[in-house]
Amino acid sequence: MVEITIRKRPRTDAVVTQRKFFKKTARGKVIKVIRERYLRNDVSCGIEHCGLCESGSEATLPASGAFDHELYPNGHLIVPDTNVFLSQMDLMESNSFNPHIVLLQTVMEEVRHRSLPLFNRLKGLVKAEDKNIWVFYNEYRSETAVIREEEETPNDRNDRGIRKATAWYNEHLSLARPPIRGKLQPPLPTAILLTDDVANRQKAEKDRIPCISIRRYVEGMKKSGLLLDLLSTAGEEIEPTKAVAARQVLYPAYLPMSTLLAGVKAGQLHQGHFNANQYNYLEGNVPAPAFSKPVLLVGREHMNRAVQGDIVAVEIFPESEWKAPADEVVDQEATLRNDDASDSEEEREDDEALAEQKLLAVEAAKRRAAERQPTGRVVGIIKRNWRSYVHSEARYLNLQYVFTPHRRYVCHIDSTSLTSSNTTSLSQQTVFATPVSRLLPRIRLRTRQAPTLVGQKILVTIDRWLATSRYPEGHFVRALGKVETKEAEQESLLLEFDVPYRPFGKAILDCLPQQGDSWIVPPKSTTSPEWRDREDLRELLICSIDPPGCQDIDDALHARLLPNGNIEAGVHIADVSHFVLPDNPMDHEAAARGTTVYLVDKRIDMLPALLGTNLCSLRPHVERLAFSVIWELTPDAEIVNVRFTKSVIASKEAFTYEAAQLRKDDPNLNDDLTKGIRLLNSLAIKIKAARMAAGALNLASPEVKIQMDSPESSDPIDVEQKELLETNSLVEEFMLLANISVAKKIQETFPQTAVLRRHLPPPKTNFEKLQDILMKRKGMVLDVSSSGALAASLDKCLDPSEPAFNTLVRIMATRCMLSAEYFCSGSVSRDTFGHYGLASPIYTHFTSPIRRYADVLVHRQLSAAISYTTLHPSLHSKSHVERTLDVVNKRHRMAQMAGRASVEFFVGLALKARGEKQTVTEDAFVIRTFRNGLGVFVSKLGIEGLVMFKREIQFDADKYTITVPSDNGDTTISVFDKVTVRIEVEKDANTQRGKVKMTLVNPINSSAL
Ligand SMILES: [Zn+2]
Repeated sequence: MVEITIRKRPRTDAVVTQRKFFKKTARGKVIKVIRERYLRNDVSCGIEHCGLCESGSEATLPASGAFDHELYPNGHLIVPDTNVFLSQMDLMESNSFNPHIVLLQTVMEEVRHRSLPLFNRLKGLVKAEDKNIWVFYNEYRSETAVIREEEETPNDRNDRGIRKATAWYNEHLSLARPPIRGKLQPPLPTAILLTDDVANRQKAEKDRIPCISIRRYVEGMKKSGLLLDLLSTAGEEIEPTKAVAARQVLYPAYLPMSTLLAGVKAGQLHQGHFNANQYNYLEGNVPAPAFSKPVLLVGREHMNRAVQGDIVAVEIFPESEWKAPADEVVDQEATLRNDDASDSEEEREDDEALAEQKLLAVEAAKRRAAERQPTGRVVGIIKRNWRSYVHSEARYLNLQYVFTPHRRYVCHIDSTSLTSSNTTSLSQQTVFATPVSRLLPRIRLRTRQAPTLVGQKILVTIDRWLATSRYPEGHFVRALGKVETKEAEQESLLLEFDVPYRPFGKAILDCLPQQGDSWIVPPKSTTSPEWRDREDLRELLICSIDPPGCQDIDDALHARLLPNGNIEAGVHIADVSHFVLPDNPMDHEAAARGTTVYLVDKRIDMLPALLGTNLCSLRPHVERLAFSVIWELTPDAEIVNVRFTKSVIASKEAFTYEAAQLRKDDPNLNDDLTKGIRLLNSLAIKIKAARMAAGALNLASPEVKIQMDSPESSDPIDVEQKELLETNSLVEEFMLLANISVAKKIQETFPQTAVLRRHLPPPKTNFEKLQDILMKRKGMVLDVSSSGALAASLDKCLDPSEPAFNTLVRIMATRCMLSAEYFCSGSVSRDTFGHYGLASPIYTHFTSPIRRYADVLVHRQLSAAISYTTLHPSLHSKSHVERTLDVVNKRHRMAQMAGRASVEFFVGLALKARGEKQTVTEDAFVIRTFRNGLGVFVSKLGIEGLVMFKREIQFDADKYTITVPSDNGDTTISVFDKVTVRIEVEKDANTQRGKVKMTLVNPINSSAL
């Protein structure tokens, strides 16, 4: 074994500590590294006018300490341990929490290792003007540095270091102010260790180090008031009251992290993301690679406190105990209405548990043997979705790179859980917060402002979920405003989907061109950096085609006949990478945002507006920098040649899809621009035909357009379906072609780190149910053996009497697929590069760099591939590209969900407005049958709903039918039937949350059923 010693600034007189660790080299060799640390005596304590430290001038902590705490009348300062920052960041960030804080280097380092998002918030705290935080480099000061002892865990070593530093501060405070003869010694302030770790406190007390728990500390503050609401219960010990001591354990204990990791490694346990069932709160599943169907979890005990998105470890039951999912809608709110938030009346808990047991037993009897799937239980949680840090043992799983946002949930307070509704009293009560998302359990919350929070949207975090508590416990973060006001709804939507929406800061805006709005392409010259190696395409008849009102135009096109009879076609994309340089604040921000988010009435930009809607927007009649892909194609759309070049263009026109269509179809127009559009159109038709012949899928998702009253009022007046024109397809085909051509080029040049996009083929089992339904209801066969076979069989799913049927089947088939994702070419095997939906062996995103960060990376790689620039070192690093794309993928998914939720909200508003004038009834298709209801899809509105029956109905799971008995004979309804529903938007009486309620009008009226 090679031994390397890194020596820093050799100083013979310094105290030396040594740290040994092992490192694997790029070639796989293990080497031992010894790092020596030289300790000093001039690390400042931060106390003003300290006579013992050298650099007292920057010191910020008053020598007398702070006097706002009843337990410390002589003044104090606090030394928080690492967990305080990991668990109590909401408290630390509050404007009303301003103690004098010593932040130890040990603590900073530990926070950095545990969670980058929390570390960034901590850095923000240190900089904040209203905070008084001194960073003390305890590891560098000789009296406070500690060396890990043998048999000591890193955690214990750090705790010891924190205690030692606290003790040192107390000693230092007394030494710094020696008694002056003849004068009364003023009382000395105390340095207090702030920690919720009971063991740490016990050790501190033994060494006579003052210490306190966080709750006790906040309670003793002179203006504790609402600060107590912000407290996380995470690290708190359970109060030893009688009720708690007698508390029943409701869930099995988790296995230790090391056992989980070993079990997963050995294949005895399976690891995956927990998905809650949106229809049935008593069921969830965990997709695990070892099984073709996800692992089913039945009952709350087996889900064992897993929350949507957690990474869990599951144990699989013997095959004889496997089950099928229950076809039943089980609503948490309806079932648990009488549950008591305060959790004091245990009998009620038992009643409820009993009812739940019964429900499960009834369901179990009805489950169908034919659809059994692997079934198991959660034995531990590897990463909590709601926690922005990982378990210290799981740290080395590379999970620290897992995107860890600060999960906060938008909730409503359930008014029935209040014990007092007196708005003037500030007494603490325990209440239920019901998350907006149906996938989450209710959260138990202690708050002093419950009565004023009823009827508002509030933000809540989950802190812990003890085995003795039926529900997770959390704390209140802040109120978002009254339910159904647009401001509250919009902000809650952005928070719910973790969309960063703060205005761009100064450091970011400083990266923009100094000329701002008046920036122009400089006059053509050989010395101008803008014109270096750029083709002058200003004379080409280039135009853009976009939806009406599009402000961020990132693509434009042209086509012309060549003398040899072939056609030149070009796609010109805004040259965003000219303005967004790697590794500056603007680049970091764009990478963190990942994508622009489109809501119905708002757009949250990835890049500052100056770029997005001006300098990089390919507006007509102005010169713009572009990145061009230019093909020579035969009249049959065969590619003869493709080249890539940086360019300067001047678009001649910005068309809407409709205007371009009209122009193309007008027989009286024969100018060159119109001819260009016709050429593009005829090529697009052939390119599409070839793509379809290769097996590309024509997928469908419900798309609707919200009609606004006026741009200012943003009151929706109606919803209509989006109409697609030929010109939509024209643009789409050329964008696909550009993306494919660019993908090939960057993959050839950078086989290890090319940024690509793929769509994995769906597991065949995903289609089983849809295939069965189609066969039984319509006698139709869905062939899923390949994307081509699927495309062909989808084309045949036609119902002559129902034109919308085919679209419905496509929507249902699309839901059986996986979603497309960005990946780094060197990280996956070559045969998994393909894009299933597009039937293309390779694909990427190049055409929207204004609004997608992946495209910015692709532009940089293409630019280097044509030797226009050199590639930034970060894009040569596989792990850097992987990490960046991991964030981008997640942001992308969240943005899609936020967009859909925004549409849903506005559809709700439009329905409400319509409902005030008349009853709203619409046609709907049945897409699912349940034991107690129907799932329906209203295509005109693009929304799904549930029709529930309170009365007993007959359910035939094999035939996908329900039968409603009545005096006039039975009515049978099955999947794919067209029905009519009445749609109402009603407010939930307890939470004030608006809900869409659907009742059947035809073939039967279900309002009384
Ligand atoms: Zn000092």
